[in-house]
Amino acid sequence: MTKDNSLKETKRQIEFMHKAGKIVEQRSKALSRPLYAMTVTFGCQMNFRDSEKIDGALREMGFLKASSEEQADVLIYNTCTVRENADKRLFGRLGVCKAYKNKNKNMIIGVCGCMMQEKQVVDRIKKEYPHVDLIFGTHNIFAFSELLYKKMSEGGFVADILESTDKIVEDLPTERKYSFKTGINIMFGCDNFCTYCIVPYVRGRERSRKPADIVDEIKRAADDGVKEIMLLGQNVNSYGKGLDTDVTFAKLLKEAASVDGIRRIRFMTSHPKDLSDELIEVMAENENIARHIHLPLQSGSDRILEAMNRHYTREGYISLTEKLKKAVPDIAITTDIIVGFPGEDVQDVSDTIDVIEQVGFDGAFTFEYSPRTGTAAAKMEQLDKGFVQENFDRVLKTVHKVAWERSRRFEGRVMEVLIEGEDEKDPERYTGRISQNNVVHFPKSGYHVGDLVQVRLDECRGFYYNGTVVP
Ligand code: SF4
Repeated sequence: MTKDNSLKETKRQIEFMHKAGKIVEQRSKALSRPLYAMTVTFGCQMNFRDSEKIDGALREMGFLKASSEEQADVLIYNTCTVRENADKRLFGRLGVCKAYKNKNKNMIIGVCGCMMQEKQVVDRIKKEYPHVDLIFGTHNIFAFSELLYKKMSEGGFVADILESTDKIVEDLPTERKYSFKTGINIMFGCDNFCTYCIVPYVRGRERSRKPADIVDEIKRAADDGVKEIMLLGQNVNSYGKGLDTDVTFAKLLKEAASVDGIRRIRFMTSHPKDLSDELIEVMAENENIARHIHLPLQSGSDRILEAMNRHYTREGYISLTEKLKKAVPDIAITTDIIVGFPGEDVQDVSDTIDVIEQVGFDGAFTFEYSPRTGTAAAKMEQLDKGFVQENFDRVLKTVHKVAWERSRRFEGRVMEVLIEGEDEKDPERYTGRISQNNVVHFPKSGYHVGDLVQVRLDECRGFYYNGTVVP
């Protein structure tokens, strides 16, 4: 999509925000109260970033933030479909919000995100949840204002789901959840087709944003006082493919690291098959690139990795982590692991456990395999649930043992912490993260959320540290 067309579309959507804004004004006058809106987000950081764009549009239209789903005049659910329980959660919420609409007849309920790219789910909503007014997908989040305006001005049921798109619409208003950190999309979609994964079917083909647009957005964030950015993509390592400029993720990361004011850069998600030496070098040379990488392993068995279509071997993965540790000695490595992939046997699980012990992960998101309709693995013979549960427990036990040994290596050290908020359990304390992403709780002592402070990590409590600010 050309820059011109992107700007034209941005202009169009902002016009719809203003038109919808007039209706909001009229209704607010008629009700003698402001109108409220809420976006409920499920799933990954890509979804949270999309919700910040929906919230940005709602703010421009004049909606105030609702304090509860029930209070909302516009209620949007941004959905995830990576695992089965994501579906259950959405239908549970749709069941509950019907009652809210009985009280507020003009309430507009919308559903968007990855689940809306699945026809069987959309058909079910149309049939079983007629109180849903608006449906749109992952490829036209940018058109939310146009669709909401259509609903507010013409009424009726509005649904618009694109099969795919080459569009990347820049510079739409966003409402950041945090003032000191933000996610920045660098690319959309995925071409890897791992056999268990639904993402390529719901997020489409890979398309990268232009490096200049990304760096501009990082500079604007820095001007707004943002200190930490998270570069987002389903597989950031394939960033740049399809662009007419010769740019790689490593080059983009280096440029991002040079932006004044950005004290910490994180990125996710990396795929081991194309994590380059160039990237490892850039990480080693730039202190403000977080000393943490999330590198999904999924399985430690070559037989299962092949069946998953992952394009790397256990030895290849292990040597990559050794390269990372050599180049960035303090690095924390976390991962994703799937247990119960079709055909997986006891030896495959032992191979996975062996890799967990060899690499020494700081943490791992461990999931039981969940068949997703439409993926290649969903057509394979599924394993017995009891057998999967047994293996899952074996893997989880190892993950916890290794993570506990690894994560306490910073005990006694003074490290820089970005204050992210109040400790939920104790308002006299702050909670924040070190560059390695470990959580630290410590007494407030005059600093503010968003500050970077030196903290001595006194005691490791497994998933977090207790610490003391070092003036
Ligand atoms: S890399 Fe594989 S697991 Fe990750 S989003 Fe793409 S298809 Fe899914």
